[in-house]
Amino acid sequence: HASRTDGVDKNVWVEFTQLAADYKAVNLGQGFPDFSPPKFIQEAFCKAVSGGPIMHQYTRAFGHPPLVRSLAKFFSRIVGHEIDPLEDILVTVGAYQALFCAFQALVNEGDEVIIVEPFFDCYQPMVKMAGGKAVYVPLRPKAASGAVLSSGDWVLSAEELASKFTPRTKAVVINTPNNPIGKVYKTEELQMIADLCIKHDALCISDEVYEWLTYDGAKHVKIASLPGMWERTITVGSAGKTFSATGWKVGWAISSGHIVKHMKTIHQNTVYHCATAAQEAVAQGFEREYEVFGSPESYFQQLPAMLHLKRNKLASCLESVGLQPIIDGKSFPNDFRFVKWLTKEKGLATIPVSAFYSPEHSKEFDKYIRFCFVKEDSTLDAAEDILRKWS
Ligand code: PMP
Ligand code: GLN
Repeated sequence: HASRTDGVDKNVWVEFTQLAADYKAVNLGQGFPDFSPPKFIQEAFCKAVSGGPIMHQYTRAFGHPPLVRSLAKFFSRIVGHEIDPLEDILVTVGAYQALFCAFQALVNEGDEVIIVEPFFDCYQPMVKMAGGKAVYVPLRPKAASGAVLSSGDWVLSAEELASKFTPRTKAVVINTPNNPIGKVYKTEELQMIADLCIKHDALCISDEVYEWLTYDGAKHVKIASLPGMWERTITVGSAGKTFSATGWKVGWAISSGHIVKHMKTIHQNTVYHCATAAQEAVAQGFEREYEVFGSPESYFQQLPAMLHLKRNKLASCLESVGLQPIIDGKSFPNDFRFVKWLTKEKGLATIPVSAFYSPEHSKEFDKYIRFCFVKEDSTLDAAEDILRKWS
């Protein structure tokens, strides 16, 4: 086998999704909605598949024309830059493939890529498979003030980030809103990152798959919209997260044409394009959202409103059972062992947070687990039952 597969063979989603299935656990692990996507987009998909032969055949390699047009129209307004549908967008097999194309197209052997921790786990293997070297910089919890930490209390030190740049730095990868902690970067934080990218002539890969999932008045800001950043930012999005249809595997990268051009080279020689009918349905979804944007009818308002309630429901359940007594006097060396035990013995699946850290830092962060609340209330109730019985 090729050495590029060495050391990247373990995958937290593969392992823990199988474990949850084996033990038929209540699954607050892998992040996917266990409810249906909104009616309008299901209908658009049905219409697409019954829309005649062309919907079942190849479409344009870099994105089905109606989809790139609707993405350009929708996001130009938000980025504050006229996005060219044919030059500046690449439609991919989920956000995963957008990330893969970015690393393959932009990272050379020996290039360094700065990754902010905690990070969605695939960034590191993708950097490695491109021949690059991942360099980590952690978000650190602000010194404990006694108050409960919120995701906004996890901050990136400008000095620490600045110290990671070298002449080999090719790109910085950020993820806002962040998986797993939910941090939504503020404009000042993004400006600090942007200033360093500009100073060191580095790219920014901004994973924004959760762009609509903000709560309590937090506002998602696109780093690509800051001065001087459009031409050096690759913004990654996901229809799976946007329309609660993770199985459709439609994603995209938006950037300046001079960058997207090279990502297209990787894409055309690997997957060529993703499912036509799914792209057509997502195009219809964005057309609808364009019309209702900012109104209560918008799914991009309805989804966070619904999830906000679910978040509070789960949070109050966790708070009321108290996580200390739950541990039953047992001592677990780390989050991986605890999550396995919880899945096997109590039938509740979650995800260990140290999976979102580099090997160098994972030990410092192995006392947290992630509960996904993008689930039916009945699923959350089942989880609550398990926690209450046992606490
Ligand atoms: N980035 C982040 C932060 C994610 O959580 C995920 C998982 N949905 C992805 C990228 C991959 O997205 P997709 O399912 O569209 O490939
Ligand atoms: N992004 C999803 C999560 O964070 C899972 C991705 C996957 O299962 N590969 O839960």
